[in-house]
Amino acid sequence: MTKRFEGKLAVVTGASRGIGYQVAKGLAAEGAHIIAIARTVGGLEDLDDEIQAAGGSTTLVPLDLMDFEAIDRLGASIYERWGKLDMLVGNAGLLGILSPVGHIDPKDFEEVMAVNVTANYRLIRSLDPLLRAANAGRAAFISSGAAHKCKPYWGIYSVSKAALEALVRTYAGETETTSNVRANLVNPGPMRTAMRAKAMPGEDPETLPHPGELVGPIMDLLSADFDETGKLYDFPTHALKDFAAG
Ligand code: NDP
Repeated sequence: MTKRFEGKLAVVTGASRGIGYQVAKGLAAEGAHIIAIARTVGGLEDLDDEIQAAGGSTTLVPLDLMDFEAIDRLGASIYERWGKLDMLVGNAGLLGILSPVGHIDPKDFEEVMAVNVTANYRLIRSLDPLLRAANAGRAAFISSGAAHKCKPYWGIYSVSKAALEALVRTYAGETETTSNVRANLVNPGPMRTAMRAKAMPGEDPETLPHPGELVGPIMDLLSADFDETGKLYDFPTHALKDFAAG
């Protein structure tokens, strides 16, 4: 049986654990070659072991996404070896510390903005020509309900996800009429991951959905036949929110 993403190439950031790990595994099971990015080599190696055992393939790229020049080099390397990129999953994220805005340390603020926003801008800048070179370049970025709720103490994270949404919606508008690239956002809702456990230490993780549950919806957004762009897929409600509609 033909696999859905056979012969396709996907970059997945934050692939060492949590949501990114599951998405990378799901895409590989459907035939995609995965370029897996994160800092934790052990997590990337576990992913590689699992994918290889299931007959898939990866290229591991241990990388700190705050190294923006390395992101530039990534685009050049992918161009040299493959000449195009079919899918980009901008999933890596940092929660930062929960604190009143006036007490946030500037270093913490900059770090969260660097990983959650600037790195995604640099990925788009580096990989946009490669997505355009594919038949149906697809990008999905992981946002959060925090982008809209702006709860007390969640300041850095909320600001970063709101900025990410503005970035992706802008990119989606720019690519819609000039290319076959489509770019969308996902709000996973609370998921059973290390980040959620850090944010909510008193919560029983077993009450939360496993991040594997997100894989199907994210793969749908990455399919060549998914022609929507600039939308936010809300996992808790399964709604596809249309920003243009307001
Ligand atoms: P995890 O903390 O489990 O995973 C985060 C991933 O991001 C890890 O693979 C981590 O890799 C990577 N990452 C973080 N900083 C860097 C960096 N500087 N360079 C490279 N990679 C980095 O989080 P989740 O899986 O929960 O989160 C995934 C996405 O989903 C995030 O964008 C998050 O904001 C979002 N989200 C999650 C929710 C949840 O309930 N879990 C809810 C709403 C949104 P490493 O540390 O190895 O570098």
